[in-house]
Amino acid sequence: MYNTPVTEISLDGRSFYVKRDDLADPFLAGNKFRKLHALLQTQSDKLDKIISYGGTQSNAMLAIAAMCKKKSWHFTYYTKPLSDTQKNENCGNFFNAKKLGMEHVEIEEYYYKDFVASVRLSMDERMFVIDQGGAVEEAKLGLEVLAKEIRESGLDVMSLATPSGTGTTALFLALSLPEYRVYTTPCVGDSEYLKKQMSALHPLPKNLIILEPRKKYHFAKPYREFLEIQQKLLGTGVEFDLIYAPSMWMALLEQTQEEILYIHSGGVSGNESMLARYRQKSLL
Ligand SMILES: *Cc1c(COP(=O)(O)O)cnc(C)c1O
Repeated sequence: MYNTPVTEISLDGRSFYVKRDDLADPFLAGNKFRKLHALLQTQSDKLDKIISYGGTQSNAMLAIAAMCKKKSWHFTYYTKPLSDTQKNENCGNFFNAKKLGMEHVEIEEYYYKDFVASVRLSMDERMFVIDQGGAVEEAKLGLEVLAKEIRESGLDVMSLATPSGTGTTALFLALSLPEYRVYTTPCVGDSEYLKKQMSALHPLPKNLIILEPRKKYHFAKPYREFLEIQQKLLGTGVEFDLIYAPSMWMALLEQTQEEILYIHSGGVSGNESMLARYRQKSLL
């Protein structure tokens, strides 16, 4: 089993540790690498086909595509109809996922919700469906592996941090490591929405602390302050993603004081296409 390294960085006069899950693989990295652990342990000949759905910027989509390539499984990914610009992009997660062999299918906006609700109806035992963002109960297993690595790292740190989309990663990490404090911040919706999402998986443990961002940010939109903190972070020698990491780092700098082990959640592969959007908006 691959144990990712820990790097120490210095930011705004504070020292942080970073668990380098971004280094697991160029495409199959970060928390998606952890969430797919159970499937990665599955023998290739046990399955033929993986199905998933969601957005085309998705890091989960790219990670699943990389996994299916390794396993020689067919991967079909369903999305709402795309614009020609999206279809013809020559960098970013969608482009790379297709290069890894992903079959892309568009579903009309009108039928999309019903399609997603019924995606398991025609399934057989050699197919596996991964819900949007990889919010699967199986994720728990992979995060227990991460928890074990953190415990055995011997670091003198009792606080961890990782940003949330669905909250699956932060929640299962907090449940697996009750002796640590786990900070997270919502990147999709606000804290109330995140709590609702997490509560659907498991009652919230006391050691899970949700830091509310100072300002409301819309998911996956470009913001000047995101770019600023991302570039400041680049100066530490570690690259972070432009969608989730900026909010988490801003909240940590503003609302915490102790030494923290930041769990790198991956997503760096999406920066190229995200930076193109910053340029389009003349923010770069
Ligand atoms: C998916 C993702 C997250 C959010 O993970 P959840 O388990 O859905 O909360 C955070 N950071 C990156 C880079 C991601 O790709």
